[in-house]
Amino acid sequence: MLDLTLVAATDAALPTEPARVRHLIDGGWRDSADGATFERTSPAHGVVVTRAAKGGAAETDAAIAAARDAFDDGRWSELSGKARATLLLKVADLIDRDRERIACIETLEAGKPIAQARAEIEGAADIWRYAAALARTLSGESHNSLGPDMLGLVLKEPIGVAAIICPWNFPFLIVSQKLPFALAAGCTAVVKPSEMTPSTTAILGELLMEAGLPAGVVNIVLGHGEPVGAMMTTDPRVDMVTFTGSTAVGKAIVAAAAPTLKKVSLELGGKNPQVLFPDADLDSAIDAIAFGVYFNAGECCNSGSRIIVHEDIAETVTERVVALSRKVAFGDPLDEATQVGAIVSPAHQQKIDGYVKGAVAAGATVRLGGAPLDVPGLGGQFYQPTVVADVTPDMAIAREEVFGPVLSVLRFRTMDEAVELANGAAYGLSAGVWSENVHTCLEFTRRVRAGTVWTNTWMDGFAELPFGGMKESGQGRELGRYGLEEFLEVKTVQMRIGRTRAPWVTGRG
Ligand code: NAD
Repeated sequence: MLDLTLVAATDAALPTEPARVRHLIDGGWRDSADGATFERTSPAHGVVVTRAAKGGAAETDAAIAAARDAFDDGRWSELSGKARATLLLKVADLIDRDRERIACIETLEAGKPIAQARAEIEGAADIWRYAAALARTLSGESHNSLGPDMLGLVLKEPIGVAAIICPWNFPFLIVSQKLPFALAAGCTAVVKPSEMTPSTTAILGELLMEAGLPAGVVNIVLGHGEPVGAMMTTDPRVDMVTFTGSTAVGKAIVAAAAPTLKKVSLELGGKNPQVLFPDADLDSAIDAIAFGVYFNAGECCNSGSRIIVHEDIAETVTERVVALSRKVAFGDPLDEATQVGAIVSPAHQQKIDGYVKGAVAAGATVRLGGAPLDVPGLGGQFYQPTVVADVTPDMAIAREEVFGPVLSVLRFRTMDEAVELANGAAYGLSAGVWSENVHTCLEFTRRVRAGTVWTNTWMDGFAELPFGGMKESGQGRELGRYGLEEFLEVKTVQMRIGRTRAPWVTGRG
């Protein structure tokens, strides 16, 4: 008997038949021209919960054409910021109204706990409201100091048609970190959710139509990277691609977008360290470590998947993390009490297990877990809370994204060593530092190469604050004012005042 906290299958009713979802193209709901569909099976419950139209070349082409026409005729980009903001606020209210419906299907498709799905939908509505505020306050620059005969203006204009490609781990949140900013800027869009989690994006499409968004401004194509995603990244009618997903696909997208030189904005993977100095507040840090690694079953770009602990406290910290991990509730995502749900697919579960086995073969020690988990009444597509100690920086588990509930423990002696270990991975998404000494926190914060640094906390997030990665964690930023800038072009205007221009050809002194 495992000494873990398990939540057995609930008696909550599963859907009697799969949800049917279709593409949204030019304001209409469409099946695929060839009738192709794909299914999504709930990873926790093993039943088919969604049957979706499977996009091909015809649907992708039609969606891109609709977005291009909608942008070029100005039906959205020429509306005032006030009009755009009013619509975004309406969408936020509709998301709130439908929170339970969206959260339920997200839980079934992604395997995440229902309580966390609800929080995700609530957070997404907040982002739509924040983007509405940006739509009304969007402005450029004026330059009134260029001399008496010149006025300079810097206009911010929508970049055009945005291709938005999303992953499966936070499907509704991530589309909401992109689409409302694109719309606030005046862009039109083609959106592709992950093939694992198509439904919530389709529901968002329904809400956009209900809110009165003009046809063609947002188009949604369901399906796989090939051909849908690939066409969205190569088509010359698309002006930019914003992608969240794996670093491997991100690199492929940069290459695919190069021939048309479209702008590419990328939110990719992470191997995020939390560094603990000896004077850290351990009660807070241990809880944040558990939260950091088990939240969303570790299937999280911000997963705090490695801790770098001063050797004086490393054994205490490891023991306390193991003890707390046993109390984290793993099990049926439909149960309110569950904190960690299922792993998204059998293939991904094997990948997680492979990292743990590889670490053991390389000399690491499993202090907790290290194997798939059978939850009573459900299938075995879960993974045990896992703590791996004696990890060295050369091991794959220390450098690569495991994307599961697996923590690596590394040790350091000096600040220089801590910084070197933290910066040793190719990723640079986020990092954390725990110390009661502000000088220690600030020195680490300045020296670490990461897009976000949490000091004495982990994984807080605000619509106001930009988010994104350095190095192979991506390029560009989402959220905050920077999130809007991604979707804007800059146009410089130079206006001569009076007939003061010195002739170039005639009348030269
Ligand atoms: P993925 O890269 O496999 O897929 C992401 C999306 O890209 C899917 O919609 C997929 O269909 C599509 N796609 C696949 N091949 C494509 C191609 N050749 N061209 C265009 N589109 C293509 O990623 P995933 O497994 O869905 O998500 C997990 C990854 O996402 C992890 O690496 C995680 O770190 C990352 N992620 C990053 C952030 C962030 O903000 N930095 C947030 C969440 C997830």
